[in-house]
Amino acid sequence: MQQQPAVRFERLNKFYGAFHALKDIDLSVSRGERIVLCGPSGSGKSTLIRCINRLEPHQSGRLTVDGILLDDVPKTIRAVRNRVGMCFQHFNLIPHLTVLGNCTLSPIHTHGVMKAEAEALAMTLLSRVRMDGHAGKYPHQLSGGQQQRVAIARSLCLRPDIMLFDEPTSALDPESIAEVLEVMTGLAAEGMTMLCVTHEMGFARKVADRIVFMEKGEIVEAVPPDVFFSSGAKERSRRFLSRIAQNE
Ligand code: ADP
Ligand code: MG
Repeated sequence: MQQQPAVRFERLNKFYGAFHALKDIDLSVSRGERIVLCGPSGSGKSTLIRCINRLEPHQSGRLTVDGILLDDVPKTIRAVRNRVGMCFQHFNLIPHLTVLGNCTLSPIHTHGVMKAEAEALAMTLLSRVRMDGHAGKYPHQLSGGQQQRVAIARSLCLRPDIMLFDEPTSALDPESIAEVLEVMTGLAAEGMTMLCVTHEMGFARKVADRIVFMEKGEIVEAVPPDVFFSSGAKERSRRFLSRIAQNE
């Protein structure tokens, strides 16, 4: 079991109608590995991430999550979703529930956890993202960065083995970006398996074990940061990096 990859794509293809969004994706993510996905807009990063918890079905190839081969059977999809947490650009906290209520809703109502236990776990995880002092507040009373940190704690309340992040900082101001990246860095240091779509290259350099660069639905390369940020990177990766450096 220990040797099994956390996530494994084998010649996976994904279409939106006639549009070929993911092309022969091969990627194996080890337990505890931190992957950063980057690439131009429309290259398929979100689609790849969303296939992992079956927010999008694929049409051919195999996708295995924690040893579970994904198919259309609801029980399989539930089993996978129980292991995978996800954090998006827009945090989608429930506006009429407090921070604590947002974090305990799913554990109590979907997973049958007792209220006291769910609240104790939520408070532990809120303190991990430094939001325990805000447990009684409502989302509109928080900054974007605070809301995103609550959204991360909310995901962690379901005790995922794998965390997916899709541009979690791209809607935030610089101060909030730093707060959220710090939380993600802490999570990485604790050994969480993570796949993060982000263009925060400082974070990628510091935290990623491998950087996956995508273009036009393909993985161009999946290499450690010291390779990705060197002249050893593929031409297409280097062109992309120089473009984003110009925009910063
Ligand atoms: P990225 O996250 O890298 O910007 P996406 O995975 O969102 O890219 O999209 C990859 C491609 O698939 C884009 O060309 C996009 O327009 C297309 N696409 C994404 N979602 C859908 C959808 N629901 N229906 C049709 N095409 C889609
Ligand atoms: Mg995207």
